[in-house]
Amino acid sequence: MPELPDVETLARSLHRRVRGQRIRGVRLLTPSTVRHPEPAPFRRRLQGRRITAVRRRGKYLFFELSGDLTLVVHLRMTGDFSLSAAEAPVHPHTRVILTLETADLRFTDLRRFGHMDLLTPDQRARFPGLRGLGIEPLDPAFTGPRFRIIIGTRRLGVKALLLRQDLIAGIGNLYADEILWQARLHPARATDTLSSQEVAVLHRAIRRVLTRAVRRLSRYRRPVGVFLDARERDGHCPRGHGPLRVARVAGRTTYFCPRCQR
Ligand SMILES: [Zn+2]
Repeated sequence: MPELPDVETLARSLHRRVRGQRIRGVRLLTPSTVRHPEPAPFRRRLQGRRITAVRRRGKYLFFELSGDLTLVVHLRMTGDFSLSAAEAPVHPHTRVILTLETADLRFTDLRRFGHMDLLTPDQRARFPGLRGLGIEPLDPAFTGPRFRIIIGTRRLGVKALLLRQDLIAGIGNLYADEILWQARLHPARATDTLSSQEVAVLHRAIRRVLTRAVRRLSRYRRPVGVFLDARERDGHCPRGHGPLRVARVAGRTTYFCPRCQR
């Protein structure tokens, strides 16, 4: 499931490759992928727009378009974009095709949970998924003191905190586990028991893990992280502490090392 580093990498790559191009045609192979507006106005309003930028916010992908419209896409479980020659065979999981000037931009989605909304600035300001999003963890404004304010007097499991999109945007199940291993914190540890030293270590781990993943990720074929690699490889703690434990924490399947995560 795509998380901040995956969506960021995809946004950067699309920005490089499709910025400036005009949308010449719109094909909805699975119309239910589009939530707003109805298929006919969706096609009509997109047609002829120029893509001025592609960005990420939380786990959302934004296509900024001429005429002040934004195409907002959530990839959910299996959504992805690819650029293909117009004559290339259409993959069976293709849901939407935007014909650009030099290629087709195709949205594929095996599980069909991904969705798109074409929004005016007003609609975008009221868009439920975006309005309540928390701070971007890679934004310079996400400082140690700011993180301490976010934790505040909340009593939450520390993994639950990392997954709260209204507090910090973009972290999902996998990178939360990597971050907590890096910070040597047990995922169920209550936030109001963290020392200021532990909060500082956790803040640095969030920044480091996500920055490194964005730098190294070549799309979400494989997550990037020392802990995530070890989990895939042999299920042992990379610090040599033996087998990782798996438990349900914050409603999610969670891996951790019972020896170094306290
Ligand atoms: Zn360990």
